[in-house]
Amino acid sequence: MSGRVLVVDDVPTNRLLLRAKLSSAYYDVVVAENGTRALELARSEQPDMIMLDVMMPDIDGFTVCSILKSQEETAHIPVIMVTSLDTPEERIRGLEVGADDFLSKPFNDLALFARVRNLMRMKMMFDELRLRDMTSRELGLTDYISEQDMEPEVGGPILLAPRCQREGEEWDAFLRDRLNVPTILTSSEREALNLARLELPDCFVVHQHLMEGGDGLRFVSALRARPETRQSAIILVVENGDIQTAAKGLDLGASDYIEAPFDPSELVARIRSQLRRKRYSDWLRSSVRNGLKMAVIDPLTGIYNRRYAAQHMNRVMERAREIDGLFAVMMIDLDKFKVINDRYGHDAGDAVLREFSRRLQENIRGVDLVARFGGEEFFVAMPDVDQLAAAAAAERIRGAIEGAPFILPHGAGEAHVTVSIGVAIADSSDEDAEAIIRRADLALFESKEGGRNRVSFFAQAA
Ligand SMILES: [Mg+2]
Repeated sequence: MSGRVLVVDDVPTNRLLLRAKLSSAYYDVVVAENGTRALELARSEQPDMIMLDVMMPDIDGFTVCSILKSQEETAHIPVIMVTSLDTPEERIRGLEVGADDFLSKPFNDLALFARVRNLMRMKMMFDELRLRDMTSRELGLTDYISEQDMEPEVGGPILLAPRCQREGEEWDAFLRDRLNVPTILTSSEREALNLARLELPDCFVVHQHLMEGGDGLRFVSALRARPETRQSAIILVVENGDIQTAAKGLDLGASDYIEAPFDPSELVARIRSQLRRKRYSDWLRSSVRNGLKMAVIDPLTGIYNRRYAAQHMNRVMERAREIDGLFAVMMIDLDKFKVINDRYGHDAGDAVLREFSRRLQENIRGVDLVARFGGEEFFVAMPDVDQLAAAAAAERIRGAIEGAPFILPHGAGEAHVTVSIGVAIADSSDEDAEAIIRRADLALFESKEGGRNRVSFFAQAA
């Protein structure tokens, strides 16, 4: 897995060094010598990651990071802050402006590459989700939201898997004190795994050595293997200087690591940053799902729209070819619907359309597909039916609408509604969905001309 890294540093030797290291691992490297240039290149080059020096003469790294994270074109690019001070205060400040990690000069190659691989993986996952989200946004179905807009302290609990009981109680105490999120303290690897399944934590804090001889790395890998915890955040706690374990943990799927002993504020800042990311990925996932749903569902009636029906027709025709069978297409139109809208208002019109959809769905089979084509025009595709069966179904629908009045909202009384239906029967030789629909439309026209509230068939040449 390769990718493009933007290296930002005001000192030429530092830029050369990082470029050489990253190029040797086949990353494509772009360099910037100051903050202003970094912002330009981040936008124009769209790197997969940015390694950002903290101390620079024009704009410092924190400011650059917070600008990157506030702009839609660059907010999604992971940022590693590169620092020579490396204090907890500096790390916390970086996390607060949206940085993903910190590396201190001189670089430890193991830590550098493990982190770069980890962030590249994460970015690819997000890129895919964002791509689908963008389609929904282009369709006007969702609005742009960034990770920084997420509220971290809502949702599921944090599960703590410490090295010993005393350490666990310490973590528990300061997290309860500083975060508005419930915590679960566990006392063994097995207990932690069981609770992970039951409580569905959003975040795990896992020590590399667990109680009763448990293995933190094995636990991380088990969490990543399970569907219910695959998306959770995992922060691995490693002994001071144990970069080997940290790197292994990141490769196994830990989201972040922290070296013990640590400043409690740093753990809190890391948890907040991971929770924000978790919320963002959850939000993207649900927005994609809703977006897809909204792209094919008519919001008023909850049934499929024309776009979906067109896709579905291809499957119905395929099925007919497979079994060399017949199928029917119905076009249904509410008679004088405009009168209801004009006389009782659009609320009443909408209520009638919803009730009509409900009755329509009650009077067809599970395999039939109903769609709203727009206005008061509806479509039904019925696989495996001949003219007799289609006629019976159409007549049943017509009767179900005429048979009982429609109750209008706001005490406006009731309306008597009727429908006109046109039916076209097609066989395995029919390959043009639009042509079949046009035949049903012609039959519908005939029903309207013939006085409405009736069923007509397209007169088949055969
Ligand atoms: Mg510098």
